Amino acid sequence: MIRTTNIERIETRLVDLPTIRPHKLSVATMHGQTLMLVKVFCSDGIVGIGEGATIAGMAYGPESPESMKLAVDAYLAPAAIGRDATPIQALMAHLGKLVKLNHFAKSALETALLDAHGKRLGVPVSELLGGRRRDRLPVAWTLASGDTARDIAEAHTMLETRRHNIFKLKIGAKAIEDDIAHVAAIKRELGDAAAVRVDVNMAWSETQAARAIPALADAGCELVEQPVASPAAMARLTRRFPVALMADEILQGPDSAFEVAKTDGADVFAIKIEQSGGLFAAQRVAAIADAAGIELYGGTMLEGAFSTVASAHVFSTFANLQWGTELFGPLLMTEEILTKPLDYSDFELTVPNGPGLGIELDESVVERFTRDGLVKVTR
Ligand SMILES: [Mg+2]
Repeated sequence: MIRTTNIERIETRLVDLPTIRPHKLSVATMHGQTLMLVKVFCSDGIVGIGEGATIAGMAYGPESPESMKLAVDAYLAPAAIGRDATPIQALMAHLGKLVKLNHFAKSALETALLDAHGKRLGVPVSELLGGRRRDRLPVAWTLASGDTARDIAEAHTMLETRRHNIFKLKIGAKAIEDDIAHVAAIKRELGDAAAVRVDVNMAWSETQAARAIPALADAGCELVEQPVASPAAMARLTRRFPVALMADEILQGPDSAFEVAKTDGADVFAIKIEQSGGLFAAQRVAAIADAAGIELYGGTMLEGAFSTVASAHVFSTFANLQWGTELFGPLLMTEEILTKPLDYSDFELTVPNGPGLGIELDESVVERFTRDGLVKVTR
């Protein structure tokens, strides 16, 4: 029997971390990453931590770290404080009535609640989500320096150190011919030692995609992620080429996943906890994919350790994870924010096994990179 335990206080902060190199996407070039960290303090003394992050401010989608912080500080926290912290799905449903959309902010808060509850019960978050089916997850690396020779050198290092053997290339900012030459050069250099995939981040029109995808398949690319923005165009392009098409940006939670599944709009879903609206919502997206015969991939918003590990707990529960994951976010940042780093080895990430998320924040590092104005919301 669990005693009632209330949410007493919620703290948020923005943590600006440098990245190891510029990260070039079709929508923006990132020189750093900002994490919005949420701490939920409960009446039984347990503290849970969650994270929100996105890619290049508002260049990727409607939420930013600043907007997530605002959503928590001004709306979610005041509505959550004083309520029972343990019936997490019911609490998130209640907050969902008061705050529409804001999926990333809700995911951060839900992560913190699950971290707290796992610590309370002495079990990993994966147990709270139905139990893990795997302890290790394959992790792809994204080559996005913007320079073919530098990307090849980076890939060789990753292979030699047995950290990654699946590479995702960010394309779509340059002319199609240049992008195809870039992909072909990298695949030719790496050969069978590595899988090569691309993410276009919606940069192409349908006719551009129809021209580019066969050439990418010829170059040895095995997966094309979100080549176009339109779900209808995705559905028309899917199964036309000998290469899998993956949906990412158009998946904004279970409802949109169902719409894409209904139109056979993708071969693969890139599932992200934040984009889905939380960990439970990500599991519902996965169930829709499974039911529709759509394969699964564990995506990232280039998240720091907390959302990366929260995602890992979710992905560990999936019945199918045919395309592995891209949970490399913490490796893109120069600073280690955990007291004990995550285990990336032999091309995989180990899903932590301790209570809650199973990781511990290094307060001194985070303090150093916190933007002004730690906000505490109390009753
Ligand atoms: Mg993507």
